Amino acid sequence: MKVLVINSGSSSVKYQLMDMEEEKVLCKGIAERIGLEGSRIVHKINGVKHIVEKDMKNHEIALEEVLKILVDEKLGAVKDLSEISAVGHRVVHGGEKFASSVLIDDEVMKVLEENVDLAPLHNPPNIMGIRAVQKLLPNVPNVAVFDTAFHQSIPEKAYIYALPYELYENHRIRRYGFHGTSHRYVSRRAAEILGKPYESLKIITAHLGNGASIAAIMNGRSVDTSMGFTPLEGLVMGTRSGDIDPAIVVHLQTKLGMSVDEVYTLLNKKSGVLGIYGKSSDMRDIEDAAFAGDKLARLALDIYEYRIAKYIGAYTAAMNGVDVIVFTAGVGENSPIIREEVCENYLGFLGIKIDKEKNDFKGKEEIISTPDSKVTVMVIPTDEELVIARDTKEIVEKGIKELKLF
Ligand code: ADP
Repeated sequence: MKVLVINSGSSSVKYQLMDMEEEKVLCKGIAERIGLEGSRIVHKINGVKHIVEKDMKNHEIALEEVLKILVDEKLGAVKDLSEISAVGHRVVHGGEKFASSVLIDDEVMKVLEENVDLAPLHNPPNIMGIRAVQKLLPNVPNVAVFDTAFHQSIPEKAYIYALPYELYENHRIRRYGFHGTSHRYVSRRAAEILGKPYESLKIITAHLGNGASIAAIMNGRSVDTSMGFTPLEGLVMGTRSGDIDPAIVVHLQTKLGMSVDEVYTLLNKKSGVLGIYGKSSDMRDIEDAAFAGDKLARLALDIYEYRIAKYIGAYTAAMNGVDVIVFTAGVGENSPIIREEVCENYLGFLGIKIDKEKNDFKGKEEIISTPDSKVTVMVIPTDEELVIARDTKEIVEKGIKELKLF
């Protein structure tokens, strides 16, 4: 079975075509700058990158061009679009209705529309992507896999904010958590690699990409996670502040005269390590600058690592212990320095010991703790597309409407 995975953002559509018999990527790419000048498709097949300049005014036109490439004699991976048996879509916000991956029908689309007010930036492009595929491939089943679904197992005490309860009841203001597909994949994979039952482990997963979040997973269920009502809460990120005193928002508006939009942009796009260092949000630049003696780059790294360590401490308490810590995503997979400094500078009290030689690598599965470390520390490259493709295949092959995650 061949499954197409689609991840639609506000001005881009990422795609990956997979052969699910061998779980092999046939080709993948990104249509970017949709609706802007200079839109193009960056397509990768057999390890070679091709850039196709195309005028793409909207998501439907972008997907039409992507489908043309998939069947292109030179660039394509299939002879005919009828070879694509199903399409899996990444959907950011499933709200409280979805604790599972689902086959998309009219009812599901209605709920997705209802969730737009919860994720005004993310869900509209996701919906556009689904509608475009429904139009372009009318006979192919579509499946939605939600970033929030894995975290629907979080208990009330962790998802209710200490605000008037009415705000939860009437306005659904609560912690949802994101990156669920990634936390789910790497935590399961950790159990597989260790040869232990998933349900027996207490796992902390640190997804450190541009956006970053951390999750506590106990008995195979997410019990807490650092992103909240939106992806702004929690860890220090590339350009997002993570946790701050909420009164700062009021202060910025009343004392510094900033508008709602300005505050929103400041917290989401101008803060995080970029805000502290000032010159880049790319962790490679910050590490280089810090080691070249730049004080603000070093401070940005210190704050970034300290916040991760604080959350690991908090989630160890939340689960009354921890067996495994997993680092994943761009920074987690590729930065030995950050992994080492988080573990060595803060987590010795947990009996964690890192093997510095084993930790000196990028981008592969590896146990980086020593055999006598009380907690196993691992690096596992995430693969959200594979999870989306697997869920899609299972739902379509079994002819079921939803796939429960827990
Ligand atoms: P996204 O959230 O956009 O999917 P990624 O998971 O790709 O992000 O992570 C992007 C981050 O990973 C960037 O901050 C980048 O600097 C960082 N990164 C990539 N490679 C390295 C590296 N070798 N060392 C440190 N950071 C890295």
